Amino acid sequence: MVAPSVVHWFRLDLRIHDNLALRNAINEAENRSHILRPIYVIHPEAKNRIGGNRLRFLIQSLNDLDANLRKLNSRLYILRGDASKCLPKVFKKWNVKYLSLQVDIDPEYIKQDEVIEKYCEENDIFVVKRVQHTVYDVHSVVKKNNGSIPLTYQKFLSLVKDTQVKEPIEVTKVLSEGCKPVDFDCKDYDVPTFSQLDFDESSLLECKYEGGETEALKRLNVYMAKKQWVCAFEKPNTSPNSIEPSTTVLSPYISHGCLSAKLFYHKLKQVESGNRHSEPPVSLMGQLMWREFYYTAGSGTENFDKMVGNPVCTQIPWKKNDEYLKAWAEGKTGYPFVDAIMRQLKQEGWIHHLARHMVACFLTRGDLWVSWEDGAKVFEDLLLDYDWSLNAGNWMWLSASAFFYKYFRVYSPVAFGKKTDKEGLFIRKYVPELKKYPTEYIYEPWKAPKSVQTTAGCVVGVDYPKRIVDHDKIHKENMQKMSAAYKLNKEKKSLKRPRPD
Ligand code: FAD
Repeated sequence: MVAPSVVHWFRLDLRIHDNLALRNAINEAENRSHILRPIYVIHPEAKNRIGGNRLRFLIQSLNDLDANLRKLNSRLYILRGDASKCLPKVFKKWNVKYLSLQVDIDPEYIKQDEVIEKYCEENDIFVVKRVQHTVYDVHSVVKKNNGSIPLTYQKFLSLVKDTQVKEPIEVTKVLSEGCKPVDFDCKDYDVPTFSQLDFDESSLLECKYEGGETEALKRLNVYMAKKQWVCAFEKPNTSPNSIEPSTTVLSPYISHGCLSAKLFYHKLKQVESGNRHSEPPVSLMGQLMWREFYYTAGSGTENFDKMVGNPVCTQIPWKKNDEYLKAWAEGKTGYPFVDAIMRQLKQEGWIHHLARHMVACFLTRGDLWVSWEDGAKVFEDLLLDYDWSLNAGNWMWLSASAFFYKYFRVYSPVAFGKKTDKEGLFIRKYVPELKKYPTEYIYEPWKAPKSVQTTAGCVVGVDYPKRIVDHDKIHKENMQKMSAAYKLNKEKKSLKRPRPD
């Protein structure tokens, strides 16, 4: 008879610190002298499901997690396959009696969890689920709002105002030898290498943000030590096009759960305490609250990542245009600021929030009139910090489909970048074909006389694309289309409202 086991299933909680579900599993294994198996399930097609930069970040994070678990006399067991199919088999083989995991709101995980939980119920496996990817329990927030999602940030803040946020917990218990299985050293469970995943790492550039809890805590501490910077932080005053990031770049770590959002919250509270500091929505705490806001909205809205069937999303007649989408995604629109941002995203996997504003507005209501859903899919592939609810929520905001309705406030692909980078250093770095352009033309190379283009070694239409659209003209046409779509949506809504008797 195989000795009974306890499993902790890591998903978006790739850390030891502040991991209540993991601590529950460790205590259960210790108290009952069961085997402990902390697992992660990787899909064999992972390289086709997530972009290369994110895959590298994930593998680094798993290696770091494994190393940290080994310090507790345990390890990470990697399983390969589709979780809903492979877990029941493994649970049987390991004689699993207890499963702990983190609560998730992504519909793909919810569906998977239903299958696993049903199996557990039928096979007497005790399941413990903990909210630990957000500061607040978003379902409780919706409940407090009488079952509706808060549609504004201020409403969300008012709902959580009096909620006490528990201190993050420590997980330090070193496991007894009795909790190790006989196959502890089995290499089959090791974190896969790129070649085992059939992924060619040489296609990636140098790694700018290394994955893992160790790096996440280091990064958090560096930023929290800059007390004045934290207290003065105001998002609109940070730069979308500085060469070094002007915000924390904690997002990839929070999204993968290498960093606990609750720990970040408490560290910010400590720094702010007793000091004059900026306030939400612009403060650093305010940024974390945006995350909570979108998680809450995503948890209570059907089809949150789609336009059709999504009750909070304005229906806008976007046009399918693969040529525009490709040019945008590859940084070949002929607008240097937009192209530099998209190339930075492709190379490094992270771009500043206001840079995301620029390119998302450009793709949708501003210029190309392509659906936000198409843009969100490109971001899903390229972002290190890809997060289901934050991506969909922010795309809806930028396309003025939900949460934000001043659709006529459009970002200029020429003027916006100049505010923080007159010389165009950011463009020169990420669009190197333009690097010798005089500052006068760096944002508008099509305006440079042919002789200047030739001297700079980059002729527009030959070495760098011509503008895909004329922003000054197209954005005005698009505003008329937005106005018509808003009008139609309003009429449809009023028709749906029950008539007073
Ligand atoms: P900081 O300014 O240092 O903020 C600290 C933390 O607050 C971030 O790490 C993040 O967790 C949170 N945060 C900051 N801004 C936002 C915001 N607007 N919404 C929600 N949370 C926020 N963020 C993601 O993490 N994943 C995504 O998939 C994602 N997709 C986006 C798509 C679009 C179109 C836009 C406009 C924004 C998107 N964001 C997304 C939000 C935001 O741009 C990033 O969280 C932020 O730029 C990350 O950089 P940072 O860690 O330096 O942020």
